[in-house]
Amino acid sequence: MIRLLILGATGSIGTTALNAIRSGLCPDVSVAGITACSSPSLKTIAEEFSVPYSYLDGGNQEAIKKFIVKTNPDIVLNAISGASGLPATLAVIESGKDLALANKESVVMGGTFMLNLAKKHNVRIIPVDSEHSAIYHLLKGKKARKLIITASGGPFVDRKNLEDVTLEEALHHPTWKMGKKITIDSATLANKGLEVIEASLLFSFPPEKIDVTVHRQSIVHSMIETEEGAVYMLASPPDMTLPILLAIKGENNGLESIVRPLPFSSSLTLTFEGWDRERFPLLEIAYEALRKGGGYRIAYCRADEIAVNAFIAGRINFNDIPRIVRTVMDSPFPEKEPESYEEIIKIDNLAKERAEALC
Ligand code: NDP
Ligand code: MG
Repeated sequence: MIRLLILGATGSIGTTALNAIRSGLCPDVSVAGITACSSPSLKTIAEEFSVPYSYLDGGNQEAIKKFIVKTNPDIVLNAISGASGLPATLAVIESGKDLALANKESVVMGGTFMLNLAKKHNVRIIPVDSEHSAIYHLLKGKKARKLIITASGGPFVDRKNLEDVTLEEALHHPTWKMGKKITIDSATLANKGLEVIEASLLFSFPPEKIDVTVHRQSIVHSMIETEEGAVYMLASPPDMTLPILLAIKGENNGLESIVRPLPFSSSLTLTFEGWDRERFPLLEIAYEALRKGGGYRIAYCRADEIAVNAFIAGRINFNDIPRIVRTVMDSPFPEKEPESYEEIIKIDNLAKERAEALC
């Protein structure tokens, strides 16, 4: 039995993981414990699975470590949304537990400090984000010269004017049903920006060797191009159950029929297109953050989160999100890679202060 602790159990990823267990797709995975921030449903879920639960803020590393000791999991799924996922990730790593990582902000902000800490504690980080899950599995036994990350393009891929976008429109994703923050990030393409940074750090690829292509169907989750020029892709219907279970159980581990087969014998259209740099500047700014390094990645991630929250709260317009990130990124941050959590927090606070002043 694999004992799974879920941080952020009440959210989209947490619910998908729990549904997989409920429906018997992985009979050898049991829930060891669950956490959330404030959703009352947490208690009901804990009663259903007869497991310990805790309302833990992602920032409270010591409390998370204690809950890990109490629940003694084999693996932890970090499905917390936003930057508060980083301290939770660090707590899991310091507890020496393998980490199925959905929280991409942890990678973007934690960078090489977080990855080195994982090495030191001999902790495996298995990506859950569908693109990175695809690349992680595609790279096994192969040497790639390029990563090609797919993007659905979000709800506004064909819309010319984004000035008057409403919250409701931005929350209506064409192919995925996800939490609010990542859904808005998908509409601005900041999500793809965060994912380019995540891929660069997780797989040690420089920005010039990572491409993005708009693939509206969200069936091909990403691709790798090998030295000889062949392109390998991982395709499956858009359903996070597969990458979540692959991260928890690995390949060749008794998983059967997790997603429905693709209809190759009838009709299946897969398209790939470029992306509009003018309407979606946040993806280009992510490449810039990656090239500049260290503090700029943290600034990009935090400024975007502050702006997205302000848009959700109705304080700013949709196009103010890239404007705010652009302005924050134009202010100075340290370029060198942070070497401690304290250094990361210092840059994070600076970015937060500058972004909040613009909202
Ligand atoms: P949701 O907003 O749906 O859920 C977030 C979860 O985190 C909830 O359980 C919430 O608890 C908890 N949470 C929020 N803030 C805190 C905090 N400060 N401290 C502790 N817990 C907190 O998010 P998603 O499930 O959509 O996304 C989770 C992560 O996975 C994100 O980083 C996202 O980018 C990534 N991801 C998501 C995908 C998806 O399909 N949804 C796909 C790929 C990656 P409460 O309910 O109590 O607020
Ligand atoms: Mg993704």
